[in-house]
Amino acid sequence: MTPSEEDSKMDTQMLIGSKFLAGTETEETILNPRSGETILSLPEASQAQIDAAVVAAEKAFASWSRTTPAERSGYLLKIAERIETEAKEFAKLEALNCGKPINAVLNDEIPAIVDCYRFFAGAVRAMPGMVAGEYMAGMTSMVRRDPIGVVASIAPWNYPLMMMAWKLAPAIGGGNTVVFKPSEQTPLTALRLARILAEILPEGVVNVVLGRGESVGNALINHPKVNMISITGDVATGKKVLQAAAKSVKRTHLELGGKAPVIVFDDADLSQVVDGLRAFGYYNAGQDCTAACRIYAGEKVYEKLVADLSSAVSSIRFNLDDDTQNEIGPLISMRQRDRVASFVERASELKHIEITTGGKTAGGNGFYYQPTVVAGARQEDEIVRREVFGPVVSVTQFKDVDQAVAWANDSDYGLASSVWTRDVSRAMATAARLQYGCTWINTHFALVNEMPHGGLKQSGYGKDMSLYALEDYTAVRHVMVAH
Ligand code: NAD
Repeated sequence: MTPSEEDSKMDTQMLIGSKFLAGTETEETILNPRSGETILSLPEASQAQIDAAVVAAEKAFASWSRTTPAERSGYLLKIAERIETEAKEFAKLEALNCGKPINAVLNDEIPAIVDCYRFFAGAVRAMPGMVAGEYMAGMTSMVRRDPIGVVASIAPWNYPLMMMAWKLAPAIGGGNTVVFKPSEQTPLTALRLARILAEILPEGVVNVVLGRGESVGNALINHPKVNMISITGDVATGKKVLQAAAKSVKRTHLELGGKAPVIVFDDADLSQVVDGLRAFGYYNAGQDCTAACRIYAGEKVYEKLVADLSSAVSSIRFNLDDDTQNEIGPLISMRQRDRVASFVERASELKHIEITTGGKTAGGNGFYYQPTVVAGARQEDEIVRREVFGPVVSVTQFKDVDQAVAWANDSDYGLASSVWTRDVSRAMATAARLQYGCTWINTHFALVNEMPHGGLKQSGYGKDMSLYALEDYTAVRHVMVAH
């Protein structure tokens, strides 16, 4: 099949109610990050189309919110099954749009996405809560968890189909209806899934609109009929959501950036650490809010860690013609690659810093950046403090545990962290002191649908995955009956 034949099979239309419609406004060019070539252009939604999507969701809410958990569970299971059946097509499309290695999508992401819908299919049928009872004589009290209404869900470009799963499954599982906006850079898998959702779900339960954040996203978060905003993105975007939400006191669910500290004690198993950092610092080309990117190493282990890590990282395979051999892909855009390059450039100008591997753009017209290790970084350096969101890891030496914990916590972010040591007591004591939504011990990065994912501080609040997500997408209500 030629590229144009393949393109003509792509889903390109938005889902509004039961209708498939092209946007009528400015066209956004969707690029292949491996080559820089245009895949296609897609026009964004007009204000009238955004209104129609919100109204369709509002209309659907009346009946969807009254379905039983078992009914909603059935729908979620059907969605899971279709994604699983069409895994290869979804993986191909995600790999094309994001530049991800095909095997990473197929073997890591798709199974986790399918499992997310299946997890919530079970979870909605077993929501825990307080027991009903006579807390006042002659009165029976009970707690309900009811849906919130219309949710505006806005996703980033780093894991498009997975972020869609994290947002849709608990929202519709909890009885809400959704207007979903994918990132303007990576809408292709959302459009394919929209076609499937329209076959499976009642009209209006999920609507998908296209467009940029400043136009379509902004219209959605300010829409008077939207009851809740769920966004995964930049801290600056999260702040705009809060301002918009303040106008009508909308509920918000914010998954923002991260800058994960990794504390490596002198007694850690060094080869395990190096293997872990090679994998979890660079996965998805480091475009991951939990990426193991800010290493603090004990004095005795520091030098060997820098040497072994640099050598391991220099062997990461990327930009090979045979994509099945690639371990990482390019950055999402030229802009993102240049942003990453400028962070490393500024860091390399500091006398105390050494770039021990990488440090350059790569790969012709594709948006590649070499996997990079920045050694000798200090706590006050920009490379330690700001989210780079690329294949770049900094290493900083610490004196003692108090310094390591203080530096780890000295961050605007609070999403993910890890501690590496053979001493269980030290691991537990250190984990207890870290101000992060997640702390891994002797590993990093692994997520399971049963456990919550979400941040503290400017990384936002609200949990994805787990029963806590269902709590976020439902409201606690008290019903009291006089006997
Ligand atoms: P971004 O904030 O630029 O965009 C995210 C989404 O928000 C996009 O769909 C965009 O169109 C929309 N948006 C942008 N401005 C908006 C506005 N004014 N109103 C409404 N919507 C708006 O982020 P990005 O560049 O797509 O993604 C990268 C960022 O996301 C990184 O900072 C990363 O750490 C973060 N991220 C966080 C998590 C997490 O779980 N915490 C997961 C993935 C990505």
